[in-house]
Amino acid sequence: MSAELEFRGLFRPRALASLVPGSWYLGFRCLACHETFAVLDDPAGGGEVEPVGTGIFDVDCPVCAAPNRYLAGDMLVFQSATAMAGQDVQPRKSR
Ligand SMILES: [Zn+2]
Repeated sequence: MSAELEFRGLFRPRALASLVPGSWYLGFRCLACHETFAVLDDPAGGGEVEPVGTGIFDVDCPVCAAPNRYLAGDMLVFQSATAMAGQDVQPRKSR
């Protein structure tokens, strides 16, 4: 069962530069280079969260440095396969 994680307002997170393989993260797929990057650790730790809400995220891609705006509904929940910030992942869920 997944737990909703609600975001409201404007966030300016810094993308995570290094990831722990096997850990779960919340992040986005870059609009410019289409790499997936993480901005938050999954607070539940097992990929069982559902990002919801009206939150807006202004974040720079750690791979290509493109600044873009993302919505909470764009957020991906994924398990990192490598320690690299940009990677081809299979998100648990994509909307
Ligand atoms: Zn990018």
